[in-house]
Amino acid sequence: MKPTPTLLAALLFAPLAALHAADAPKPNILFIVADDMGYADCGSQGCKDVPTPHLDSLAAQGIRFTDGYVSGTVCSPTRAGLMTGRYHYRDGIHNWVPPGKPGLNAGVPTVAGYLNSAGYRTGLVGKWHLGEQPECHPMKRGFAEFFGFLGGGRSYFPDKPKAADAKINLYTAVLHGDEPVALKDYATHDFGREAVAFIQRQKGSDKPFFLYLAFNAVHTPMESPEDYLARFPDIADKKRRTYAGMLAAMDDNIGRVLQAVRDAGFEQNTLICFHSDNGGPITRNAPNASMNTPLRGGKGQTWEGGIRVPMFVKWSGRLKPGTYSQPVIQMDLTATVLALAGVKPDAKWPMDGVNLMPFLEGGHGAPHEMLCWDYENQWAIRKGPWKLAFAGPEKGQKQPVLALYDLTKDISEASDLSAQHPEVVKQLQADRQSWSKEVVANKPSFTANSEKAAKSP
Ligand code: CA
Repeated sequence: MKPTPTLLAALLFAPLAALHAADAPKPNILFIVADDMGYADCGSQGCKDVPTPHLDSLAAQGIRFTDGYVSGTVCSPTRAGLMTGRYHYRDGIHNWVPPGKPGLNAGVPTVAGYLNSAGYRTGLVGKWHLGEQPECHPMKRGFAEFFGFLGGGRSYFPDKPKAADAKINLYTAVLHGDEPVALKDYATHDFGREAVAFIQRQKGSDKPFFLYLAFNAVHTPMESPEDYLARFPDIADKKRRTYAGMLAAMDDNIGRVLQAVRDAGFEQNTLICFHSDNGGPITRNAPNASMNTPLRGGKGQTWEGGIRVPMFVKWSGRLKPGTYSQPVIQMDLTATVLALAGVKPDAKWPMDGVNLMPFLEGGHGAPHEMLCWDYENQWAIRKGPWKLAFAGPEKGQKQPVLALYDLTKDISEASDLSAQHPEVVKQLQADRQSWSKEVVANKPSFTANSEKAAKSP
């Protein structure tokens, strides 16, 4: 078509960014979340004993976040933050959601609901853990399709057949939509298969898709398929060997999903995000032989080992591969995909996440002035290089810990600098207090007691 003078003028004078935004098709979005995977448990994070070629391909072909955080130290808080783009305390989630207890505030908009309204075809495959009540069901929260389970954990193997009149346990039952179904295989394989099928169903559609693939791997129970266990004869520790089998099965299924994206011709226009929902459980909260080296602590703690996780984004058509080292948090992924979809979040439910695209495409500065965590008797604040960490006394300890670390030099939180920098301690305490007053205090809450949390499934 020959350009008309008006079109030519528009092309010449329209800001490039505006043209780009108007012309760019909305990308497909694929969120992949691992459960209780350690910081050091894939090759790109330094893992030596378990090959993870598919996760490593995301890190190599995408952007690896060195300081990628999650807002929760356990499952439900992080999932709430990912679904809403908001600190989970704002919406009634302070801890993992046990059976029968309130889930995510049914009024808060979710990323799935926003994207659904923006014309996306939406699906969740895997673990929800934001309430099993009818109003919390994923298909009431913006997902058009659901295959998975509503609770926090279950066996990876098919359930034994039950009497026809036996009550369905909605926390652990595998559901297709609302209908209980039997697993056909090892759960990780079933979730991989359903995710592939979802992607294949999008071929020929004129709508973009949003798929949230939430593996329960590599959370307890420690159950690996035999053929995966057989891959690791050299790992002597039985628990680590089982973990290796579970992790390898997840990595293989991520590979199947990435292949399905390529085969469907979606690779250039699909943003793929991966992270673990919390750090590896080392000593408590369902330990699974994961590794967080060189970080201190693990799941259920606000030390780096509980909140800093493997995190990658890949978008072959737009993002240059590389490393990004400013602190980011999983809520940013939510804000980012809404910006890409042209969705303006409801002002009644302001987001804490930040659109990362300008930062990942060469912008300067940091997405966040500070990030904060609050869990049981612990809290932490990260601001620039500094982290101020408070931990109430653990078993056998008399005194709580309040310590200051320079994470750019001391990722392991080994050298307390609070005595050398009392002014930094004072400032961070004040910052944390005002954050807590606004975000955490007086919010509806359900807090599982620690005794129960230690036995979490
Ligand atoms: Ca978890």
